[in-house]
Amino acid sequence: MKTMKLIKERNLVRKNWRKMDLRVALCYPNKYHIGMSSFAIHLIQHLFNSRNNVVCERVFLPYTKAQPTSIESNQPLKNFDLIGFSVQFETDYPHIVKMLLDSLIPPYARERDDKEYPLVIGGGPCISANPEPITDFFDLLVVGDIEPVLDKIIDHCLKFKNPRNRLNELLDMPGVYLPSLNQDTIKSVWVNEMDNILHPLQQIVPLVERKDKVSPAFGKTFLMEISRGCSHGCRFCLIGYTNRPYRERSLSVLEKIVDKGIELTGVKKVSLIGAAISDYKRLEDLCWYIVNSGLNLSLSSLRTDRVTPSLIEAITASGQQTIAFAPETGTNTLRSCTKKHMTNDDIARAAQISAEYGIKHLKFYYLIGLPKEEESDLNGIIEQVKEISQLKFKRGLSLSINPFVPKAHTPFQWDPHPPIEILREKKRFLESALRKFAPKIELKFLDFRWSKIQALLSRGDRNLSKVIKTVAEGQISLGSWRKALSDANIKLEEYINRFSLYDEMPWDHIQLNFRRESLIKERRLVEN
Ligand code: SF4
Repeated sequence: MKTMKLIKERNLVRKNWRKMDLRVALCYPNKYHIGMSSFAIHLIQHLFNSRNNVVCERVFLPYTKAQPTSIESNQPLKNFDLIGFSVQFETDYPHIVKMLLDSLIPPYARERDDKEYPLVIGGGPCISANPEPITDFFDLLVVGDIEPVLDKIIDHCLKFKNPRNRLNELLDMPGVYLPSLNQDTIKSVWVNEMDNILHPLQQIVPLVERKDKVSPAFGKTFLMEISRGCSHGCRFCLIGYTNRPYRERSLSVLEKIVDKGIELTGVKKVSLIGAAISDYKRLEDLCWYIVNSGLNLSLSSLRTDRVTPSLIEAITASGQQTIAFAPETGTNTLRSCTKKHMTNDDIARAAQISAEYGIKHLKFYYLIGLPKEEESDLNGIIEQVKEISQLKFKRGLSLSINPFVPKAHTPFQWDPHPPIEILREKKRFLESALRKFAPKIELKFLDFRWSKIQALLSRGDRNLSKVIKTVAEGQISLGSWRKALSDANIKLEEYINRFSLYDEMPWDHIQLNFRRESLIKERRLVEN
């Protein structure tokens, strides 16, 4: 395995530390190739570095047992004034603590009262939904978008020798959560007008081959954020609630971003970033603009009800061979229970167009164990796959089947995580039925034991911080989770299913861009 020091990158930014007033370590609590696939890392580093007197360097979880150090100048975390964690997934929580411990920084904020320790802040979708399991490790958390608060946080750090002691001055700032102070409510903040915010153009490009283990998911690409949020509000989906409202950049702005971004990065591929890419109003025009500029295109999952021949033609013309759809369930009834408004006919039609217009590999995402799921819904998946597998895709059909994990701030936040034995039964049922008519189909199931850990963290409270710390101190594995929970006297099954419908929740003080009552109303609609 290449160590991070040996990874060559284009557009690396190195600033003269001696001339800087604020040194920021931007941490991604996972390995380099995962962190560099995240648009947030490119964006936040660019935002910090756009201030002349601030230097921001990236730090990832090391591939080896080494201490985490910055990519740009090999500095340990202790040498920075500010450490910012971009947190995208709950299962990365122990990595946050591990990176602090391995850097000889006390992980609990209350143990860092000395000014010699950097201020530790964090943000990201899980933090905006429910930061409680990890609040003890942070001095400050950002709830919502980073842009409205970033300059004020920088100014605060520049103004005070020991900014930790003066955090109370930020108490009334929307979007800022100060876990050590008593805040009744923390209101999220968001950017209204995406055309008015910075987009990173001179992005860092890892100069590694696609097959290299340190290569980011999209390879050498320019990541272009076209929109934020999603207006559909599927009842199981975190992003559909935490990142509201839906906002998008105009086509003319995106065309300029493509031109300049490609010039400055020297890559040949544009990857579209957004929670609801297919909702972008001028998606076809944008895709054709990219294709007609002689570039490759990469987009993640599309909504089947938005698929058109012209869109698929643009995708295949750009060289992309795979397309992903997320029907989530096998029947219209259960799909409408989840508020994912698309029909089996939409799905069949989208698959048909994809086959006709040259897509070589189709990928489907399903959820099992959703509230109200019946055996007929599993049969629906089998029927749907049977129908689609009649179509010809040169590189076949893949299914990714994951268990439903209840998430904070969604209408299903009160629902239980399905028991593992039931999930295993469903898995066996699907596997044996699907293998009968499509023996070569690629089938992937998330390990249900890990989905339980996700369920634990997504709806946890502050009692979990000691568990997370114990896990971080050892090997991060299912075994260490089991042991840490038992040491803390927490029974996993009971803990993750401890809520009754409409109970108050540990994250009710986080106020997102909708009223709590609307979640209750949405949940009630499922019962009717
Ligand atoms: S599942 Fe997709 S369409 Fe539904 S709310 Fe989430 S991002 Fe939006």
